[in-house]
Amino acid sequence: MKYLSAATGLALAVSVSALATAEEWSYHGDTGPGYWGSLSEDFAVCSVGTQQSPIDLAGAISASGAAPALMMNSISDVQVSRNAHGVTYSAESVDAGLTLNGIDFTLLQFHFHARSEHHINGEDFPLEVHFVTASEDGALAVVGVMFEEGDAHPDLDALWAAIPAENESGEGPDSLSLERFIPADEPVFRYEGSLTTPPCSEIVSWTVFPTPIEASAEQIQAFTDLVEDNARPVLPAHRRYVLLSD
Ligand SMILES: [Zn+2]
Repeated sequence: MKYLSAATGLALAVSVSALATAEEWSYHGDTGPGYWGSLSEDFAVCSVGTQQSPIDLAGAISASGAAPALMMNSISDVQVSRNAHGVTYSAESVDAGLTLNGIDFTLLQFHFHARSEHHINGEDFPLEVHFVTASEDGALAVVGVMFEEGDAHPDLDALWAAIPAENESGEGPDSLSLERFIPADEPVFRYEGSLTTPPCSEIVSWTVFPTPIEASAEQIQAFTDLVEDNARPVLPAHRRYVLLSD
């Protein structure tokens, strides 16, 4: 597959995060999710948009050929940055992305939400990871994977250990195999939605796995001790369909 140049990916990542930090917003109180749309003109779609994310993934319609081709291989020289809203992992060298409807997307970054943002048939999960990928023309495709409490995940301890103080950056693992975050081949949910943080832009093709992977209770607790509740509540699906690939 063709990859974005690092410079293009970086410019996009920086522009998304610059917008996101232009105004004060949070997950609580009068700067919380219910108020994001009124905090800035740039955030208006957070309130008035009809293709917002996350949603409850329920009532999915079976559709052949809806799944992207995932190529979640490895990344190296992982970088970690932390702000008031969470922790973001990116990498100097990326061999990961996906192809959706004939368009190649390359991994820009990944991050975690606790609790999960998407619900599946009305249920949420203690943790959700989002792999954010971008095409050369700036379209975004995000892959969401849920965690449930179970066996320890082999990579989370190293990822958590690399989390720096708020508003600082640091270095993560030298290399990371992303296959271990992707459930075994199975049907996936697909729908069209948005960024789940301001400015809530409706530019995201979502792929979410119905089956969770496992993390230990200690790993889930360790993350929530550092990042307290960074999940946007679910929004109405409105006229959208959720597809379940076969
Ligand atoms: Zn996210």
